[in-house]
Amino acid sequence: MSAALFLSDLHLEDSEPQRTQWFLSFLTGPAREAAAVYILGDLFEFWIGDDAPSVSAQETARALSELRANGVPCYFIHGNRDFLLGKRYAEAAGLELLPETCVIDLYGTPTLLLHGDTLCTDDVKYQAFRRQMRSPLWQAGILALPIKQRLKLAIKARGASTEHTGTSSMDIMDVNQDAVKAAFESHGVTRMIHGHTHRPAVHQVDLEGNSAERIVLADWYDQGSYLSLSEEGFENHVI
Ligand code: MN
Repeated sequence: MSAALFLSDLHLEDSEPQRTQWFLSFLTGPAREAAAVYILGDLFEFWIGDDAPSVSAQETARALSELRANGVPCYFIHGNRDFLLGKRYAEAAGLELLPETCVIDLYGTPTLLLHGDTLCTDDVKYQAFRRQMRSPLWQAGILALPIKQRLKLAIKARGASTEHTGTSSMDIMDVNQDAVKAAFESHGVTRMIHGHTHRPAVHQVDLEGNSAERIVLADWYDQGSYLSLSEEGFENHVI
């Protein structure tokens, strides 16, 4: 039975080689049998530009392009860590870049795909920062800096993000229920799949009598995992 596979929040980086190994096993294993692979953001822990990929990003690009050569399309939505990943890397890896929200038909059910950070509207500070990060002008300014300086900024940003996550209440780091309902309604769907919160679960959401489903993917901190979805339904897998 062919299935579409979904994963997010792998946070690959050179100092965590195990995660890259899990991903390479995924790409040469279950992904080869997939109808399509969807990576819903934060494939990488940070991204400072396509001209400066990490060793793990280079290994990943090779394995991804082999997957593509084997006839499996692979799609990518930017996360809040790897939003600077651009066309050059995507082309080398055979990745197809998707917009930040995307509705696809999955075996007859229109499904909204997104990273998930846009749903965390209670985190006002982060949303302001996000607007800045997603501005093309700001991005061009960052990418024009020397690699060394970009690396310094990325490390600083990661430190600030860890601190922010550590000092903010658990609630504001999760999705806002009104934002979830608004996303279902504005896209006219009753199923969504996202990552970002690192709180894997399947939530039933009541939309004025209609029931909708919100599937949250797991992160790769302790183990590699992915969701498979076919005509028969969905299932979680550990690598
Ligand atoms: Mn994220």
